[in-house]
Amino acid sequence: MFHVSGFMNNDVCIFCKIIKHEIPTDFIYEDERVVAFPDIKPSAPIHYLIVPKEHIQSIMYLKNNHQEIISKMIFTAKMLAEKLGLSGYKLIFNVGREGGQIIDHLHLHLLGGWDKKN
Ligand code: 5GP
Ligand code: ZN
Repeated sequence: MFHVSGFMNNDVCIFCKIIKHEIPTDFIYEDERVVAFPDIKPSAPIHYLIVPKEHIQSIMYLKNNHQEIISKMIFTAKMLAEKLGLSGYKLIFNVGREGGQIIDHLHLHLLGGWDKKN
């Protein structure tokens, strides 16, 4: 299946299970490389996670051949923000435990929907 980069086996990874449709999730977007779905515990009025189908543990585990997937994640976030009508937003990668990363499958947070003056 997908190439595994990093420590965790993708058989036990919750995001891999979501990607394989083993856990019911409302996808806002899916293509052959990435998926996007709402965060279960939103930190903003609008909070989506953009997730590559390939199991990569985090930004720390990126290899040179991952440049395209990172670019794809950022362009997916941009496309979703436009589709959602966001006039401003935050894109966040939490990296490693010290960086606040809880799920060991690379993901980009798209946060927005606050009052316009934020
Ligand atoms: P991290 O802290 O690793 O950057 O963010 C992981 C995010 O995944 C958290 O914001 C958390 O609420 C979200 N999350 C954890 N488990 C699930 C899940 O099963 N489904 C969804 N949709 N989001 C999850
Ligand atoms: Zn995974």
